[in-house]
Amino acid sequence: MDMRNFGNISIRWKLTILIVTISSVSLLLASLAFITSDRINTQQTVSNNLATMAEIIAANSSAALLFRDGVAAQETLGFLRSQQHIQAAAIYEMDNTIFASYRKAGIDMEFPESDIQTENILFWGDHVELFIHINYQGEQIGVVYLRSNMKAVHDRLVWFLGIVAVVLLVSLLVTFILSARLQRIITDPLLRLSAIARQIRIEKNYSLRVIGESRDELGNLITDFNAMLDEIQSRDDELRENRTRLEERVTQRTKELEVANSKLATSKEQAECVARRMKYHAHHDALTGLPNRTLLNDRITTELAHARRQQGMIAVLFLDLDRFKIINDSLGHAVGDQMLRVIARRLSNNVREEDTVARLGGDEFMVLLPNISSSSDAGRVARKVIDCLIDPISYNGHKLHITTSIGISVYPHDGTDSETLIKHADISMYRAKELGRNKAVYFTAEMNAGSRKQLALETSLRQAIEKNQLKLFYQPKIDISRNTIIGVEALLRWKHPDMGMISPMEFIPVAEDSGLIVPIGEWVLKTAFAQLKQWHKAGHTDLTVAVNLSSVQLACSGFEEVVEKALQHADLDAGMTELEITENAAMENLGSAIDVLGKLKNLGITIAMDDFGTGYSSLSYLRQLPIDVVKIDQSFVREIPDSHEDVLIAQAIIAMAQSLNLSLIVEGVENVRQLNFFRQQGCNIVQGFLFSKPVEAGEISRMLTAQSIPGTVNLVK
Ligand code: C2E
Ligand code: MG
Ligand code: MG
Repeated sequence: MDMRNFGNISIRWKLTILIVTISSVSLLLASLAFITSDRINTQQTVSNNLATMAEIIAANSSAALLFRDGVAAQETLGFLRSQQHIQAAAIYEMDNTIFASYRKAGIDMEFPESDIQTENILFWGDHVELFIHINYQGEQIGVVYLRSNMKAVHDRLVWFLGIVAVVLLVSLLVTFILSARLQRIITDPLLRLSAIARQIRIEKNYSLRVIGESRDELGNLITDFNAMLDEIQSRDDELRENRTRLEERVTQRTKELEVANSKLATSKEQAECVARRMKYHAHHDALTGLPNRTLLNDRITTELAHARRQQGMIAVLFLDLDRFKIINDSLGHAVGDQMLRVIARRLSNNVREEDTVARLGGDEFMVLLPNISSSSDAGRVARKVIDCLIDPISYNGHKLHITTSIGISVYPHDGTDSETLIKHADISMYRAKELGRNKAVYFTAEMNAGSRKQLALETSLRQAIEKNQLKLFYQPKIDISRNTIIGVEALLRWKHPDMGMISPMEFIPVAEDSGLIVPIGEWVLKTAFAQLKQWHKAGHTDLTVAVNLSSVQLACSGFEEVVEKALQHADLDAGMTELEITENAAMENLGSAIDVLGKLKNLGITIAMDDFGTGYSSLSYLRQLPIDVVKIDQSFVREIPDSHEDVLIAQAIIAMAQSLNLSLIVEGVENVRQLNFFRQQGCNIVQGFLFSKPVEAGEISRMLTAQSIPGTVNLVK
């Protein structure tokens, strides 16, 4: 068998083959030894037998040879016929001649030449030859030759071989059977080992173990194998644990990464969204979503460039809603905001797509009309805009009427840059307001002159304080029940060297716009308080002074300190002073008004609400403001008692003041009929031309000293 193939066959077969081979070889060797020894014995026996026979012949033939008796010699050989195995025999004389011979029938052979001197036995393949001496009285006289076949030897060999073959076969069979059983002692554990190893390899199940308790090398191998498995299993467990941990970490990390990625994506999206929103907010009005001033400016600039190239025209409409502030203040900001949204929608729906409607803030809107063919186009659009607001706006059951004043400026007539066009549209819008609102007015060069006048007014107002052009006039407040001047209201006058006396109605808005009202107001407070101190010193210790405040002053931080300082400066009791604030001024910034007025009231100052009724103030606001006095506006007084409506309004205001426990002052009383009406209503404090116009302090001093109240002669008790 090829050794390579032998290596591939199973260990069972290997062991079987080995055992069988080894036992066969040993049996064969034993048989060979046995056969050889038996053959030697047999040959010995044959040669002994042959020698005995030859010695008999030699003994029996010596006489015949000696006496040359050939017949006797032949007879001596004759008994050999009974010996089947003797093939031939001869008696040689000393000269090597054959004296007598015998040859079995059927045997064809030559008698060998005898070496007379040597006794010999020669074994040939199929026969054996023997030469022995024939002696007579110790002297050799011839040689006996015997030739025998080897049948006996051969038969015995064949018999032996048969026995050996049978024994061999039986022993082989037994060996095979035994080896098949016995080799299991070795192979079974090995096979178990191998099977488990294969199973482990396939299933990767390191918890499997090989069973075996023998204490031999195989037992050791199994123990070591199992120990190795223990080690592998613990490492595998560790590995698996590590892998599980690693997988968990990877999963967790992946999740974290996913979360981080999605967060990143979200935050990127958010950032983009925020950027978009910011961009949107930077260019749009938050309330209405309309373009704001920035975007409008951009568009005007673009359209101007376009118009310049095309030699075209563009128009800018400046809109300011009429009396919107009143709605906002009286109905609340939520209503105001809702109205602004509706108005924005209406405006957008009533212009062309290429036109831009923008909100500049508050109640101001602007419409940019690019590509107009004539100025009248702008007028037509303005008319359309005015008309689109005719339908009242419904809100929470209210039907609100709103109108707008519009100023129009046109490129290239009224300006060639965005700023000028807007400024001119703004100026003409103010003109529209002056002309009675709900109108559209084109810009004209004269208007510019008007606004320049405003600017000039501002410039000279700056120097008014230093140049001592400001003066305080005082109008007395009279208690008609006692016929006494109980106080005065300080009213500002500006005596301009060129323009003459300028009304506060004219210059106070300019002072407010420019911020000059702050130093002017401070001067008024100081002057009025100092004047009152003078009157107190003169003995009119019950006299009070009222000073008007602007919303700009109220909004100024530290205003209460300014008042306090003025009081200290004049060394005046706060209780003798009164501050007047109009409804609208208080509403402009209700929060800070409540706060500042509260602080002033805490100082002991009386707070009066001036021009009451013009701002459509709601009761809820009034309750929040820390006021002590309400001054009915002169517009309600003028038509009294003739106007039934004004009578009703005046009565309502009086009832409201009483219910809120507020004092009431009637201003603008010009005639006795008015006075009587209010007296009948129980209003005792009045102010008006009927008694006195605002006059200089000296005049008041005279009145106080004389206690002559102008106009009292006209009083009807
Ligand atoms: P006001 O506080 O309501 O002052 C009353 C205004 O009515 C005064 O006008 C006064 O001259 C006028 N008046 C008084 N009695 C009568 C009358 O019987 N008939 C008519 N037709 N008018 C009468 P004036 O002085 O022109 O002041 C106008 C407004 O200017 C004031 O209204 C006040 O709001 C403001 N003002 C005046 N002085 C100051 C000031 O020092 N500071 C601030 N912030 N505003 C002031
Ligand atoms: Mg006043
Ligand atoms: Mg007033």
